[in-house]
Amino acid sequence: MAIPFHREDGVEYGSVRRLSPMIRRVVANNPSVFTYHGTGTYIIGSGRVAVVDPGPDLPRHVDAILAATRSERITHILVTHTHMDHSPATRTLQARTGAPSYGYGPHGTGRFERGEAVEEGADWEFVPDVEVRDGDVVQGEGWSVECVHTPGHTSNHICYRLREEGSLFSGDHVMAWSTTIVSPPDGDMGDYLRSLERLLDGEDARYWPTHGPGIPDPQVFVRACIAHRRERFDQIMQCLSEGMERVAEMVPLIYRDLPRSMHPAAARQVFSALLYLIEEGRVACSDSLGVDARYRPAS
Ligand SMILES: [Zn+2]
Repeated sequence: MAIPFHREDGVEYGSVRRLSPMIRRVVANNPSVFTYHGTGTYIIGSGRVAVVDPGPDLPRHVDAILAATRSERITHILVTHTHMDHSPATRTLQARTGAPSYGYGPHGTGRFERGEAVEEGADWEFVPDVEVRDGDVVQGEGWSVECVHTPGHTSNHICYRLREEGSLFSGDHVMAWSTTIVSPPDGDMGDYLRSLERLLDGEDARYWPTHGPGIPDPQVFVRACIAHRRERFDQIMQCLSEGMERVAEMVPLIYRDLPRSMHPAAARQVFSALLYLIEEGRVACSDSLGVDARYRPAS
């Protein structure tokens, strides 16, 4: 089952665009293979507004957010998770607005932490002023969001459901343009699948991911994301049953169309899938767990 991806033709950096009666977006100029055209910072409401994912700490981007809300007041800063392209501008924006920040908590260390910073791209400095939990409702002037804890991409990932419009700010959990990176130690494939399945209970009409365009048919999209991961698990099981033991052997086969420069990121995905398959009792590891370890089907 192919995921029905949606693309977006270019964006205009530094200007604000209206996406719905209550939502505007400013895109940061940080395009990359991981961020697509850049980080989309959302503004909710009018007059007294919330900002979702201030983005990377680029002075021009913060200026653009402030210019977009010039005659308004930012009263809330909502953060989906603590990657460098999402949370660092919170500090600058707070210094200039005084608005409190909301999030699940600081960046997690994951299950396999060995005392060193094993992950790149994490914003270790972010600490929310207000810690939110699943089901909490944050209320502003004319808007309210329900917090939906969706661990997987990171352990502290939160989606925010805008109740007045029946839409979900899906962060990096579900994106229209690409699959999500689930990289251990803090990324967890089992959590990620459970967080996808949870969204199937929601009746959201649209998702607003932090990168790329909105997703107009989210239920169909999420089902396809789940099916895609299960296909990957089958491919990995097939490789193992043919005697391949190492992630490095499987990546070129499973990710045939991916440029070589992306293979290290793909290896992290295969590794996270293997950890999940071990959890499920389908795979065993012959060494100590790691991306370079040897794996085999569980007998
Ligand atoms: Zn992220």
